[in-house]
Amino acid sequence: MSLENSLNNQGYLTTSLDFLTNWARANAMWPMPMGLACCAIEMMAFAGPKYDASRFGSEVMRFSPRQSDVMIVAGWCTYKMSHAIRRIWDQMPDPKWCIAMGACASTGGMHRCYGVVQGVDNFLPVDVYISGCPPRPDAVLNALMQIQEKVKTEHSTVYDG
Ligand code: SF4
Repeated sequence: MSLENSLNNQGYLTTSLDFLTNWARANAMWPMPMGLACCAIEMMAFAGPKYDASRFGSEVMRFSPRQSDVMIVAGWCTYKMSHAIRRIWDQMPDPKWCIAMGACASTGGMHRCYGVVQGVDNFLPVDVYISGCPPRPDAVLNALMQIQEKVKTEHSTVYDG
């Protein structure tokens, strides 16, 4: 019996390691909710039943950085707070992604003053910016989908010790 015949009807597939790991990562993005101001209310709605983030494997908000994949910074950020956020970011395992939700997180928004960071990309590597004040929950879903597309094209890192 040939190998092809012996594998018939036994259920197998061929794929690449990159495809498999990226597929798993893209469909289980657990958010680290960094709610700082009013945008956080819309972020909560994003995780609720109406918008159903579980379709994207992202309904499980993690309050432990060790279990998080994507940080959602929602709201304006003071310089004092930025140090704590950066520390939490550093505790998240790689690979990880970051969303700046709303005008304030993206640029400082209306808070153009000495105490507010003018965009969280001053201390975080932001992958997706969401415009709006506040953005709608479906805009957060759209940002997640953009990160999913990004993840699908990434290559696995091979550690050789
Ligand atoms: Fe609040 Fe608007 Fe700033 Fe969001 S963008 S934190 S809703 S002021």
